[in-house]
Amino acid sequence: MSTLPSPLQDNALSYLRAYPTSIQDQVKQLIAQERLGQYLLAKYPECHAVRTDKALYQYVQELKSSHLRNGEQLSKVVFDNKLHVIRNALGTHSYVSRVQGSKLKTKNEIRIASLFKTAPEAFLKMIVVHELAHLKEKEHNKSFYQLCTHLEPQYHQYELDCRIYLSYLDLYQQSLWSPTLS
Ligand SMILES: [Zn+2]
Repeated sequence: MSTLPSPLQDNALSYLRAYPTSIQDQVKQLIAQERLGQYLLAKYPECHAVRTDKALYQYVQELKSSHLRNGEQLSKVVFDNKLHVIRNALGTHSYVSRVQGSKLKTKNEIRIASLFKTAPEAFLKMIVVHELAHLKEKEHNKSFYQLCTHLEPQYHQYELDCRIYLSYLDLYQQSLWSPTLS
């Protein structure tokens, strides 16, 4: 049941395929009424203040040390403008193995798509929590999502709203938030 069955809109809704049609219909309605941005801004009025890779590393490290004390060490955390906004490529975690002398060193790297640089803290937290949870659990299984909600009780709501924002980005091609000046 769509009021605006356009290919553009179908494409924008592709981020929400895994959700019930009732949710997809609500988003379609918001798009049709041109109220998608309003909906998001009302819930998340402000952009977070994590402006640099260094600040991002600190942000991730703090979350990690307060919740995953026994997790593996992080060697690198960066915003990456080469990550494309396609489904699960919003963030990546990788284990880079390098031979140093006679030793094989493994490094944990987290890359966060740079669209999260100008976004509410809720979305940044959601993607960071997601990638941190992957340090312990590689698959998107039940224990993975349990870990996500342990790190952030509102994880599922944030992920849904973040996906709604991806629909917004597809349709309007520009960020809804701008960096705070403070
Ligand atoms: Zn994942």
